[in-house]
Amino acid sequence: MTAKMLSASPLVEKIKNDLKSRCEMIKKSGTTPSMSVVLVGDNPASLSYIKNKKKMCEEVGAQFNLLQLHLDISHTEFLDLIKKLNLDPKVHGIIIQLPVSEQLKKLNLSNLVLPSKDIDGFHGLNTQNIYTGSTDLKLLMPCTPKGIINLLKFYNIPIEGKHAVVIGRSLIVGKPLSMLLSNFNATVTLAHSLSKNLVELTQSADILISAVGKTHYIKASHINPARLTTVVDVGMNTLNNKLTGDVDPEVAKVASALSPVPGGVGPITVISLIENLITATENQFKG
Ligand code: NAP
Repeated sequence: MTAKMLSASPLVEKIKNDLKSRCEMIKKSGTTPSMSVVLVGDNPASLSYIKNKKKMCEEVGAQFNLLQLHLDISHTEFLDLIKKLNLDPKVHGIIIQLPVSEQLKKLNLSNLVLPSKDIDGFHGLNTQNIYTGSTDLKLLMPCTPKGIINLLKFYNIPIEGKHAVVIGRSLIVGKPLSMLLSNFNATVTLAHSLSKNLVELTQSADILISAVGKTHYIKASHINPARLTTVVDVGMNTLNNKLTGDVDPEVAKVASALSPVPGGVGPITVISLIENLITATENQFKG
């Protein structure tokens, strides 16, 4: 068996075209959708993610602003800046790029950005939609989980009644994704570093999603070929200066479908963010 590749590019193009026309409509009313990214320090991985966000943002016709702050910025200065952005009617979406400095980590970062400008979808009022059972992917919700559901739907991978195994329980990927899959009626197992018998769990998966952060951690032996498993690789790791996923290339021989790295969850996440920006702008414009 050779797995079907769940390449993000046809879906990204489709969403991008839709966003271009929505952006054009907004501009006709005299407003340009605009996002501000707040970066503390100069983490190279963050700068590379930001570059992708800027590119996609400008491709749909929206505005992008980077506010780069010193690592030693005080709580007060940082909070003042976020407050200013929250109040600025020309700013429609705000991202606090993670990780921030050690001292700012003590702040409740998820709830600093106004829910209406929270295009990362991390604010309690936005995540609440997922935790109360919503399947409305047009709401502002965390970009990676939303993008993964859209990718599965685009490739007609059934979710309802299927066993979805999510490995990794972070607040940005694993937890919201497991809830969202459950909202779409999957039976979900959320695994983590202390899970016992991981191979037994993954071999029983119809959909296996890895958000562990370890290069090629998921091996062919994690998959039962008879199960016709769809594998989604969230990992963005580096090996010898190259981007690598969590999933070993050998998995392509035993899975039914596989999202590649690069070219899978990464670009879907970025376009989902831009989609949140356009939605946030439309909502603010409607008042
Ligand atoms: P994270 O905060 O780095 O946490 C990793 C998760 O993996 C934890 O829940 C941990 O369990 C679990 N884990 C670690 N070792 C494990 C093992 N041996 N077996 C089973 N589970 C294990 O997670 P994250 O921020 O979601 O990032 C995960 C990966 O996804 C990274 O490579 C990151 O770069 C990537 N990522 C990609 C995108 C994208 O757009 N493509 C977006 C976000 C993240 P414990 O909770 O028990 O510690």
